[in-house]
Amino acid sequence: MSWQTGLIKTILDPANLIISTDIAVVIADKYPKARHHYLVLPKEDIASIFQLNRKHLPLLEELHLLARNIIEVRGECFESFRIGFHAQPSMQRLHLHVISKDFVSSWLKTKKHWNSFNTSLFIPYEALYENLSKNDKIERLPKAKVEELLSKPLACNQCEFVAKNIPSLKEHLLQH
Ligand code: AMP
Ligand code: ZN
Repeated sequence: MSWQTGLIKTILDPANLIISTDIAVVIADKYPKARHHYLVLPKEDIASIFQLNRKHLPLLEELHLLARNIIEVRGECFESFRIGFHAQPSMQRLHLHVISKDFVSSWLKTKKHWNSFNTSLFIPYEALYENLSKNDKIERLPKAKVEELLSKPLACNQCEFVAKNIPSLKEHLLQH
């Protein structure tokens, strides 16, 4: 399916590269789910986290360095961001999400959007790095586990509030 190669097309246009090194690039997420949302991708054609092995640990370190760089370039503070991978990515080419914790965005529209960043469907960089160091590969979550996480209640990421639907969650997030 061609939509799955959208990121690969995006990084072919130099105008889309906010940062570019020999090893990786940083782009803006086209449908940002927060005030700041960037993607860090390797230039090497690695489809996803499931193609990684221990040899890629230095590459991951480079991706993380660029994640920190883009936060600095934007004059933002590191603590107000989540940096990590989706346990079940949809788009091809390995990509590290760099997303601000406000989650204030008109593109945040569904429970799936929320839970993919705010449950264990989001694997923090450090956790994935450690997992890969130990196991030499990243395992897929069972389908039933993915379904369970996607259907979790809409719990706020900044307080104890649990929203009954997406409009009320979005209204709540604006108050933080
Ligand atoms: P994932 O679920 O980890 O595969 O996330 C893919 C991300 O890519 C999502 O956050 C999308 O908003 C973003 N996205 C989709 N198409 C494009 C594109 N052409 N350029 C930049 N970002 C995109
Ligand atoms: Zn809250």
